Amino acid sequence: MLEVRNLSAWYGAAQALFDVTLQVGQGELVVLEGLNGAGKSTLLQSIIGLGPRVTGRVLFQGQAIAAWPVHQRARLGLGFVPEDRRLFAELTVRENLLVAARTPVSPVRGGVQRSAAQQLDQVFALFPVLQTMQKRRALEMSGGEQQMLSIARTLMTAPTMMLLDEPCEGIAPVLVESIVDALLQLKSQGMSFLIAEQNALLAAHADRVITLVAGQTGAHLTP
Ligand code: ATP
Repeated sequence: MLEVRNLSAWYGAAQALFDVTLQVGQGELVVLEGLNGAGKSTLLQSIIGLGPRVTGRVLFQGQAIAAWPVHQRARLGLGFVPEDRRLFAELTVRENLLVAARTPVSPVRGGVQRSAAQQLDQVFALFPVLQTMQKRRALEMSGGEQQMLSIARTLMTAPTMMLLDEPCEGIAPVLVESIVDALLQLKSQGMSFLIAEQNALLAAHADRVITLVAGQTGAHLTP
């Protein structure tokens, strides 16, 4: 599904990734771990097209996408949940979700055309708390609730694979559990994941854990 081959990345003259190679199969949940500064965010941003200058190959659904603009990668089914969430602070939960809505054919739902209303139903089923807060502005939500909204908003773009940058960081344990449950539910429906995360709860459910050390892939561990 996703294949990264010999990916290197540079911020100006400073190299942040060195020949990174990894694969994520259909329906797999792969956790990317590593110390601060190891290059996790750079790798995810490079895959979605928001990163610095890169060389190497990124294949998604069999297509070489490394030179594609972000929106085209998203249209092919790649969703990205950034570390800083990038919500519209003044918009309500419902408005944040509808801004992102589109109605493509989604393999996760068996290739059925879905309307924005159906997509809303799907994300509210995953995150019932968002349904109860539909009219609340994003800036009035806790960090964990905002994280749920950020994940839900990405789901509104109907991805088949999600890249998440530290979705559990700084979030109350009870909300971490809800987020992990939601991600596992999506996985059971066929969604693929590459998730930068230090939280052990998520790693415990991973098909594989890939360790990044100073911009390089280290041991591939199976929990
Ligand atoms: P963290 O967990 O702290 O977010 P990370 O594993 O995601 O760390 P990156 O943020 O990808 O690591 O950083 C990898 C390297 O690239 C670090 O040396 C960092 O200083 C550098 N770097 C990251 N962003 C930039 C930038 N915008 N400009 C220059 N260097 C950067």
